[in-house]
Amino acid sequence: MKNGVVIVGSGHAGVQAAASLREEGYDGPVLLVGDETELPYHKPPLSKTFIKDAAAQPQPLRGEAFYTGHTIELRPGTLVERLDAGARRLELAGGGNLAYDHLILATGSRPRVLPLPGADLAGVLSLRSVADARLIRDQSAACEEVVVIGGGFIGLEIAATLAAGGRKVTVIEALDRLLGRAVAPLIAEHVRKRLEAVGIRILLKTTIDRIEGEGGHVSGVLTPSGEHLPAKMVITGIGVVPNVELAETAGLTIANGIRIDSAMRSSVPGILAIGDNASYRHWQTGGDVRLESVQNATDQAKLAARTIVGRPSDYTAVPWFWSDIGDMKLQMVGLTAGSDRQILSGDPAENRFSVFHFAVDRLTAIESVNRPADHMLGRKMLGLGFSPTPEQVAGGTDVLKAALAALPAE
Ligand code: FAD
Repeated sequence: MKNGVVIVGSGHAGVQAAASLREEGYDGPVLLVGDETELPYHKPPLSKTFIKDAAAQPQPLRGEAFYTGHTIELRPGTLVERLDAGARRLELAGGGNLAYDHLILATGSRPRVLPLPGADLAGVLSLRSVADARLIRDQSAACEEVVVIGGGFIGLEIAATLAAGGRKVTVIEALDRLLGRAVAPLIAEHVRKRLEAVGIRILLKTTIDRIEGEGGHVSGVLTPSGEHLPAKMVITGIGVVPNVELAETAGLTIANGIRIDSAMRSSVPGILAIGDNASYRHWQTGGDVRLESVQNATDQAKLAARTIVGRPSDYTAVPWFWSDIGDMKLQMVGLTAGSDRQILSGDPAENRFSVFHFAVDRLTAIESVNRPADHMLGRKMLGLGFSPTPEQVAGGTDVLKAALAALPAE
């Protein structure tokens, strides 16, 4: 095994995979290749704090010494252009090849492009990388009005951050609610009201005819009703698409992401995929999922390392996610698919509450606003397969803690 492991993509999943290989005792070469030029960094702060703070720097996932100390070769600024799965070889942009024994594809995802006239004007931006965040930060300083297209997590985080920095922000969402696919209607409505209360204009059930420009730079958007919304910056946040092209052209099975099994193996021996780019059958719901979260990237990376060292184990982690939108810390644990009953705990008027989701009397997910204790309890309860009764949920955090403490030790 002289060529060792090559990891393509040095984001959350790729860096964790390199670290986990060493933790699992892998002593062959580990090469981490990424097209970004920065030392690998945390992505979540970009939309929450980075874009409003002129002095902010990217937060490294690991210090430089970590890579040298663990004999992990990091090659930033290196784009992998082609994968030859038969020859176990990667071709690099600008020439050069890399041979591998095991390959981990951790290529992440990229913002979906808005299919509209004007989407290519200067000042129409999206946010995935620190380079994108710098553009938004620098250009927004000179903008009075900003339009955000898409009322999902990233769009709303950016809207709240820019509004807090004094920009006049309008959010345009095609559906009849915010955070459409992701949270209970009660939470979506709560978020809408609070964002409107800080001056953000939210247009639901609204589409866009075109993005308008002057001299090659965006000047606003035009809605089908004929309303012109002036804006020197338009940010699109309409979801992401997985980066599967390397895998696809090499013949790996693709199904809304690179298809993997429960131990992170793709359809081609020797190639694993992890993070935003990978889809799999979920152990709990039996449905196919592709999750976009730091938790998923981290946990899948750990499993990929175990598979490579010959100790595979199944992916059974409980999914969780967080988002900071203005003064709301949203935390989600579990999956709401199939939920047929929701119980509210706490008071939305205090901006502190949770929605507990049940499916046929079993707890499946908890969504919290500024109630981190519920979230942490949820991770424990769902991890243990413990379902509280509706009465226990109504009793509040202390009653749930007591119910957990009363469980017999394993
Ligand atoms: P990434 O971290 O995107 O890493 C993939 C890397 O691979 C990138 O650097 C990419 O440039 C590189 N790459 C792709 N193709 C190639 C190639 N051919 N050659 C070389 N390199 C390549 N998640 C949460 O849980 N909570 C949050 O609050 C949250 N906030 C977020 C805020 C923002 C602004 C963004 C962008 C994401 C946020 N996420 C959040 C999502 C989370 O960051 C992702 O789920 C996570 O980064 C996925 O990790 P990954 O390694 O799969 O992908």
